[in-house]
Amino acid sequence: MDYRSAFKASVARVRAEGRYRVFANLRRVKGQFPRARLRTDEGDTRDVVVWCSNDYLGMGQSPCVTGAMKQAIEDVGAGAGGTRNISGTTHYHVELEASLADLHHKESALLFTSGYIANQATLATLGKILPGLIIFSDELNHASMIEGVKGAKCEKHVWRHNDVAHLEELLKAAPLDAPKLIALESVYSMDGDIGPLEAVCDLADKYNALTYLDEVHAVGLYGLRGAGIAERDGLLDRFDIIEGTLGKAFGVMGGYIAADEVIVDAIRSWAPGFIFTTSLAPALAAGARASVEYLKSAYHLREQHQERAATLKARFQEAGIPVLESVTHIVPVHVGDPVLCKRMTDELLDVHGIYVQPINYPTVPKGTERMRLTPTPMHDDAMMDELLDAVKTVYAKHVGLKVA
Ligand code: PMP
Repeated sequence: MDYRSAFKASVARVRAEGRYRVFANLRRVKGQFPRARLRTDEGDTRDVVVWCSNDYLGMGQSPCVTGAMKQAIEDVGAGAGGTRNISGTTHYHVELEASLADLHHKESALLFTSGYIANQATLATLGKILPGLIIFSDELNHASMIEGVKGAKCEKHVWRHNDVAHLEELLKAAPLDAPKLIALESVYSMDGDIGPLEAVCDLADKYNALTYLDEVHAVGLYGLRGAGIAERDGLLDRFDIIEGTLGKAFGVMGGYIAADEVIVDAIRSWAPGFIFTTSLAPALAAGARASVEYLKSAYHLREQHQERAATLKARFQEAGIPVLESVTHIVPVHVGDPVLCKRMTDELLDVHGIYVQPINYPTVPKGTERMRLTPTPMHDDAMMDELLDAVKTVYAKHVGLKVA
């Protein structure tokens, strides 16, 4: 086989579809988020405002987080030095797991090196430790959940997005005594809609199924103490396993599940993605714990975040820019074509100093390509004015504005 040609051909296919990804090489300066400097291909740098970060509250630059990380490096050094089972557990890991269990009102929590691994490893392992398990997965679940469900090597059914009637049909058709698991997200990150959490819990009770909730885009942001949509809706106790990330609103890195002690103990004992990998650096665990604890009482930040998102959506709508209907902090602007989407975001960057990443297939279905904006409490009115003018300009030029 001509390996080089095969690799090149695979990339050429991505290029031909207009979805070849180019990294934006950001030079960040602590304390200036969401402003950053971008290194161009020519080697110089230019100022940009970042409008597509998942550091939703700017916690990645919060002194309480960076201070805890610096202190941990001073105290114990850089790496964990081993897997959790072989010398890689420190008091930072143990304390962070206690903080997360407390956040979600669960007996226990378990850290993973990312939210992706938390989903993949947990779901795959559930398939192995529960013989005859049938998994019911929302069709828009994240790639990491899809990989986990595949790895579970058990019977699976995909229910139409947010369609509980379809979910019930599938549950009803399964043998009554078979073990079942329903998996969904709370905030869907590309559309900004929310899963039917309560209805799913009701169905889980009726059909004796376990419930698995990905709160990756909601932890830190919703609920009285930032535990997510399940907390906001009074459903924490009705989800068997809650999965989250430390890399988005908490501003650091890592993933976790929170659940009953027996569940966590089983996953801890069987999941290769937990057992056979070096544990999170202690400084990451220290920073994440500081962030989780801080956000438990940072109601003001959550309110400011919601206000920024609502204002941006309203201003886009007024300007005739098609925002997809989103009930959350995510502001998706419809473009519907990958080449156009890339051209528009390139122009926003090159001409207007605004950094938004184009979102293309397979992250979203073909024909629904979009710009996904994520306002934070740190995006002030002046930044929003600039963004609006710039988006209006590129939209009018490439797509045309339909102002009412
Ligand atoms: N679940 C969802 C819904 C996500 O969007 C993501 C990341 N984009 C993950 C899980 C993975 O989380 P992490 O980035 O911590 O790996």
